Amino acid sequence: MSLFSGFKDLLGQINKIDGSIYMKGKDFADVYAKNIALEEEIAARTKELEQANQTILTLNSVWEMMNSSQPLSSMLAKIVSILYEDMNYHFASILKIEVDENNNLYFSEKAASANMSMNKVINVAQANMETYKLPYVVNSIVVKAITERKIYSTPDIKGMIRMFFPNLTEEQLNDLVKNMNSKSCTIVPLHKEQENFGCVIVSSEREGVTDTETNFLSLFANQIELAITVAGLFEEVKKQAITDPLTGIFNRRYFEDNIVKEAERSLRLKQPFSLVSLDLDYLKKINDTYGHQFGDLAIKTIANVLKREARSIDIPARIGGEEFNLLLPGVDSRGASIAAERIRKSIENQILDTIGGITASIGVATFLEHSDRIDELMELADQAMYKAKLNGRNQVQIAQPQNDVNWQQIAVDTFMDILAKRRIPVDENVAQTITRKLQKIQTQDTNANDILYSIVDMISQTYNQMYKTGTTKSKLLLAVMVAKQLDLPKEEIDKLKLAILLYDIGNIMIPEEIFNKKEPLTDDEKNIIQQHPVIAAREILKPISNIQDIIPIIESHHESWDGQGYPGNKSGIEIPITSQIVLLVDAFYAMTQDRPYRQAYTIDEIVEIIKKEAGKRWNKKLVDDFIHVVKNESIQ
Ligand code: GH3
Ligand code: MG
Repeated sequence: MSLFSGFKDLLGQINKIDGSIYMKGKDFADVYAKNIALEEEIAARTKELEQANQTILTLNSVWEMMNSSQPLSSMLAKIVSILYEDMNYHFASILKIEVDENNNLYFSEKAASANMSMNKVINVAQANMETYKLPYVVNSIVVKAITERKIYSTPDIKGMIRMFFPNLTEEQLNDLVKNMNSKSCTIVPLHKEQENFGCVIVSSEREGVTDTETNFLSLFANQIELAITVAGLFEEVKKQAITDPLTGIFNRRYFEDNIVKEAERSLRLKQPFSLVSLDLDYLKKINDTYGHQFGDLAIKTIANVLKREARSIDIPARIGGEEFNLLLPGVDSRGASIAAERIRKSIENQILDTIGGITASIGVATFLEHSDRIDELMELADQAMYKAKLNGRNQVQIAQPQNDVNWQQIAVDTFMDILAKRRIPVDENVAQTITRKLQKIQTQDTNANDILYSIVDMISQTYNQMYKTGTTKSKLLLAVMVAKQLDLPKEEIDKLKLAILLYDIGNIMIPEEIFNKKEPLTDDEKNIIQQHPVIAAREILKPISNIQDIIPIIESHHESWDGQGYPGNKSGIEIPITSQIVLLVDAFYAMTQDRPYRQAYTIDEIVEIIKKEAGKRWNKKLVDDFIHVVKNESIQ
């Protein structure tokens, strides 16, 4: 190869290298530029990631807070403070749409968090405001965001402040905007289920909103909406738990909780409260004549009257189907009877669709005046109400204090209660006849005693075909004579009279075939006959408070002086003397009557049998006095 050609070759190679160096340099610049672009992108993505991370953390703390079942107001306050602190806003606020008494819309601020200068805006603005109602301006960007359910952003901070606080002067506005330093204001709509609820407003130093921020704000809005809905549901459940669905007034549970609290307060402060017990008259007739929905209308009407007549601290409640109670804190019986009379008149004045007029019977009892026990108070109010029914309905009756009541009145109230609450299974005709008899005692100057005896005879005859009319009267007179012979005080004799009227009432629960069986009873049947009536009597009478001291007499009326009786195997002076009198009188009259399995005994035979049992079944002294009475008073 010549030198020239060798040189040319070399030159060619140099050129090649040179070319490749050039190419490499170009590549390098490209790579460098790409690198810078990538780094920028990484930085941007990292920032986004950080923001997303922050979003997740923020949403997470909102979520945790929502699960802590705080009240809505403190939940919303926390939400705005999170927005303000974590997300770098100058200002964050939650507004709710409200309706005023003239049906005009306005906004109320449910929560807000703001920096110093924004706080100054708020302070200055509020100093100029008459109310805390913020204007709802139709066509404004705020209302647009809410109604279109879209996030809107505006740089017009001044316009926004002016809209919400129209009383500020132009000078104040300029001053505030300058201090605030915000460049944009963003409105995020909120809705609760299908309804528009309001909005979140935030302001920041950023100009406008990015897509990332919009996404974040809408996620955030979802959380707020959820919080509002959950809190709303919670409120609803709370309301449902204390109100009666048909009438919207309080239910029995709420009433019972509150009467307990009221009684505690009343005892502590020595201040009375009254209970008004009300029952709609003739509802059954309304239902039968016009249909159930009109019965419901009558019930709702009563509830509305109670709601209207009650003060804000009173508690009107529907206790049962057609029974209402009204609790009047701090009101004595005089005040309560005035209130009850006003309610009665108001009910009478209602004119209802199709039915026309309705009436109610009302009873009033006052805590500390009539009783200082809740159960007794409720029963006294109830009894007063039944008295109003018996006296002809559409009237108010005040409870009688317990110690003024004579034994006949207690007996009347007790039978009224037994029938009204259907505490014993008697047929409708018997129940009606007894009710009429009780009414007679209440309204006419009749011989209450004879009517009471005939009531007990009637009840006894429903389960014992052999029970002779007049037996109750004979038993009671004999028992009283024996008690007087024993020198018992009047209170004990009154209790004894009531015990005689009521001791056998449990028999009504014994199956008829056992009660009237002709053959001797089996041990099991004997057991039923012995144990069951005492238990049944206790169950029937237990809820009736004014005869509580009669129950022990009835419970022990099969106990034996020597401890061989039932159901408690009590002996000697453990047994009330009145119980022993009941047992003796009962045994005496049982022996004077025929039984399916034996004939009646003569008086002399009975006296002999009783004598033999002296010191065993019954107290010896009692037997002596008893025989003395029987011999001297020509008892048959
Ligand atoms: P009184 O004047 O003695 O109170 O007579 P009354 O017919 O109102 O009373 P009674 O106790 O004999 O009958 C009550 C009726 O009320 C029977 C029951 O079917 C009816 N009732 C109970 N709850 C409701 C209810 O929620 N709606 C309707 N429409 N009727 C009810
Ligand atoms: Mg009724």
